[in-house]
Amino acid sequence: MDAVQRLTDPSTQPVRVAIAGSTGSIGTQTLDVIRDENERVPGSYVVTGLGIGRSGDAVVEQAAEFGVRLVVVDDAETRRSVAARLPHAVVEADAAALVADADVVVNGVVGFAGLDVTIETLRAGKRLALANKESLIAAGPIVQPLRSVPGAELVPVDSEHCALHQCLRSSMAPDREVARLLLTASGGPFRGRTAAELADVGVDDALAHPTWSMGPKITIDSSTLMNKGLEVIEAHELYGTPYDRIEVVVHPQSIVHSMVEFTDGSTLAQLSMPTMKLPIGYALGYPTRIGTPFGRIDWTTVGSLDFEAPDMATFRCLGLAYAAGRLGGTGPAWLSAANEVAVDHFLAGTLRWNEIADVCVDVMARHDGATPHTVDDVIAADRTARRIASEIMTQR
Ligand code: MG
Repeated sequence: MDAVQRLTDPSTQPVRVAIAGSTGSIGTQTLDVIRDENERVPGSYVVTGLGIGRSGDAVVEQAAEFGVRLVVVDDAETRRSVAARLPHAVVEADAAALVADADVVVNGVVGFAGLDVTIETLRAGKRLALANKESLIAAGPIVQPLRSVPGAELVPVDSEHCALHQCLRSSMAPDREVARLLLTASGGPFRGRTAAELADVGVDDALAHPTWSMGPKITIDSSTLMNKGLEVIEAHELYGTPYDRIEVVVHPQSIVHSMVEFTDGSTLAQLSMPTMKLPIGYALGYPTRIGTPFGRIDWTTVGSLDFEAPDMATFRCLGLAYAAGRLGGTGPAWLSAANEVAVDHFLAGTLRWNEIADVCVDVMARHDGATPHTVDDVIAADRTARRIASEIMTQR
């Protein structure tokens, strides 16, 4: 039985889900969705594996609650302690181990480190519920061919791309019928501010996202609009739409999660309350919808929905991402790596907010124009861009 039959026939076995990055924001919300769905229809989902970096205490709790038999721990010391506390579980080092017993692998790893899970899941012909946009962005040329492995399926766990996925399902011929993809952006905590006003913002200011509750890396990326820029590249990789036909619209209420305009001028939008549980549940249940509603829109209180153009001059990261996307090859990998290093420094207090874009500009100025052919090429590109970013920051 293939994954789709299993997912569409309620009389069959539970859907087996493995979660890479299980203690992060996406991982814990995936477990929330599974807990709720299993309460509604007992035995709908089983969790076959959990993968973490070093959050040992949290994963021990998760494994106990969901009866998980396989735990993958990246950090060696944490791995030993988890193994001692979970004597009935297999505790491994390699995240690829998560794939074998799963129908769906949720990739909630933060940053470039998520690449392995993306590749191994698609290579095994499984469904990848992808929250780790960096792996698709940095390794697009390597990941794309794996999408045609029989059984392999990529369902995005990103609210905008989930919205696009839902809108695109209305078209019998999206290749011919799509005129524009419109990605909505909340604008982040600094919407409406000038570059001068943003010169001295601190980590806490940037972490105070007005509508979404997410992990620190993506929240900083939202404050610079780098997240939206990376999502433009992600949309291009996922749906094959040329960059000229992907646009960003600022929509502060985060109710419209993205839109597709078709060739006849008709625009479809997906609306829901801002919660990642919806895209997670969509990716777990696709092609059917799960039964648990995660926040219903109250139309008596929702008020007005506003839309405006992004301020590309203040939020330079958005334009940088378009440029890197159009560059292709290892361009997106370089930008994503440079940004990760810069964001780490900002979070550590050693780089100012407006210097995140400066570092990315300087790194991209040294891009070598290469095209990656193997995973090793992508890893090498990532390393090079990180090294250059670190050099640039120590020289500042
Ligand atoms: Mg998003």
